[in-house]
Amino acid sequence: MLTVDEALARLLAGLGETDVERIPLSEALGRVPIDAPLISAHDVPPFPNSAMDGYAVRAADGGVVRPVIGESRAGGPPAPAVEAGTAVRIMTGAPVPDGADTVVPIEDAEERDGVVTVAAPPRPGTHVRSAGHDVRRGDAVELPRGPLTPSVIGLLAAMGNSDVEVHRRPRVAILSTGDELRPSGASLGHGQIFDANGPALAAAVIEAGGDPRLLDPAPDDPAVIGERIRAGLEDADLLIASGGVSVGEHDHVRGEIERLGTLDFWRIAVQPGKPLAFGRVFERAVIGLPGNPVSALVTFELFVRPMLRAMLGLAGDGRLRVRARVGEALGKDAPRRAFLRVRVERDADGYRAVSAGGQSSSQLLPLAWANALLVVPEGLSATEPGASYEAILLGAVA
Ligand code: AMP
Ligand code: MG
Repeated sequence: MLTVDEALARLLAGLGETDVERIPLSEALGRVPIDAPLISAHDVPPFPNSAMDGYAVRAADGGVVRPVIGESRAGGPPAPAVEAGTAVRIMTGAPVPDGADTVVPIEDAEERDGVVTVAAPPRPGTHVRSAGHDVRRGDAVELPRGPLTPSVIGLLAAMGNSDVEVHRRPRVAILSTGDELRPSGASLGHGQIFDANGPALAAAVIEAGGDPRLLDPAPDDPAVIGERIRAGLEDADLLIASGGVSVGEHDHVRGEIERLGTLDFWRIAVQPGKPLAFGRVFERAVIGLPGNPVSALVTFELFVRPMLRAMLGLAGDGRLRVRARVGEALGKDAPRRAFLRVRVERDADGYRAVSAGGQSSSQLLPLAWANALLVVPEGLSATEPGASYEAILLGAVA
């Protein structure tokens, strides 16, 4: 059985990045830009402009009384040049007229009968934003690594870009398997349950930056499972199946991976989620996740999410981690690394983790309420009350 780290290393080995596409900024939120600096074609701002509503003046004139010879508005016509001893009324964002080097805010000035009186001689350069004071034309601008945020999209727009080069989202085919599965919304017959993994994994794929393709669930029939894997991979970079990977008589996912391609491994020392099959079919990764919904989602988080990010050129899982104290003894299987469903909260001493509910891998409700996975190392059979463990944050901490 592989350790969590060994399994992850094998899953990531040789994984290529997706190709590059150019998309409009309006569709760019959350997409991952290519890892190359962007040469700015413009100064941002493009011209020296005023940071305040007020009067554009020459600081060297000293003096406190000036005739107002014109106006500069944001987007308005050019204002007259500021000659010695004069002022131009100016609005925030408007070009600072030729000759002026300083803006006196309206609060520090009084205009009457076309003459402005300022409280004191201004300091040179005050309230003038020089051309390129945010980004200079020709600068190689590094974007932060990771999904595009509103502020980066705003920066790109301010630099004059209407589109951006991003990695294509990895296409992920999702296959739920099991004779008992019915789509939610349908009626349930004897022994049937609703397919939770399909919708949950599709959402997890989107959250990780991928593009899910939800396939029709397959019964526990090797021929149908094999056919779904084959067809699913025609239009996907990788396929994740759930259910049917264990050693039961009706578990066929592993066998079909082996029949259609090659199996790399099928067990990991992880809790939840010991049976996890990984192989290649038609040069594409196929991952068989365990069927219990908590196992499927936690193993997706630990193993598939980093794969999708690697295909987008991003390292790691992109999650924040904190050390959190546990007050209770939460049991686990000693040989395996456990990822317990907890709620992490801030308190006076740092972070505290409380079990989010039952830790059975079939209980989705506690996972739904958990905002973190508590990492309890191999060798321990329970958390030690008062000890701190690493917590992988899945959501916000109150
Ligand atoms: P398996 O891995 O096929 O042995 O399934 C383990 C458990 O997970 C069984 O109780 C299944 O009924 C359940 N299960 C498998 N697939 C799903 C699914 N897509 N949605 C909800 N539960 C599932
Ligand atoms: Mg099954």
